[in-house]
Amino acid sequence: MTFSWTQHRFAGGALALDVANSVILRFDAERRIDRYADPVAMIDFAAAANRFSAEKELFGPLEPVALENQSAFLDLREATDRHFRAAILGTSTGEHLANLLDAASTIIRRHPAKTAHTPLDAATARSALMLAMANEPERLKICPNCQWLFVDRSRNRSRTWCDMTVCGNRVKANRHYRRQKKELTA
Ligand SMILES: [Zn+2]
Repeated sequence: MTFSWTQHRFAGGALALDVANSVILRFDAERRIDRYADPVAMIDFAAAANRFSAEKELFGPLEPVALENQSAFLDLREATDRHFRAAILGTSTGEHLANLLDAASTIIRRHPAKTAHTPLDAATARSALMLAMANEPERLKICPNCQWLFVDRSRNRSRTWCDMTVCGNRVKANRHYRRQKKELTA
């Protein structure tokens, strides 16, 4: 099965969270998939972010992460996930935030000049910093189905799923299936 970056994979509502969500089923050791483990998928992510990211207007056209910056970019991805996940769960410490700031500043230092195309790693660092400074913890959520992180920008903060059309429907379908099965076996 070929993999492609679809709109669903940008359900995070912030570029930094979409990057963090590139690890599928992060806490399931057996089924966990790191989509960036495939170098082609990692390169393709920048072009997909230009189409689908909620922050695409903010950073201008993005270009892929240069080979020499990929390891710093992956460090930023992990620090982003740890910090915001802990913030949502109420377990965040100064250490989480300091690690995120360290990872972001390493990248920002490597891209001092503004260029026509923004490298994905530089944009992700800025996205993570903006999210950390926005201080709207009530808008940050973890999808109960897939564990992705997302920003709930709905007016009454009523979003439950990262993506209703994927995770919401999947859970509803499972419930429906279980109910039907119960009726059949009752
Ligand atoms: Zn989900």
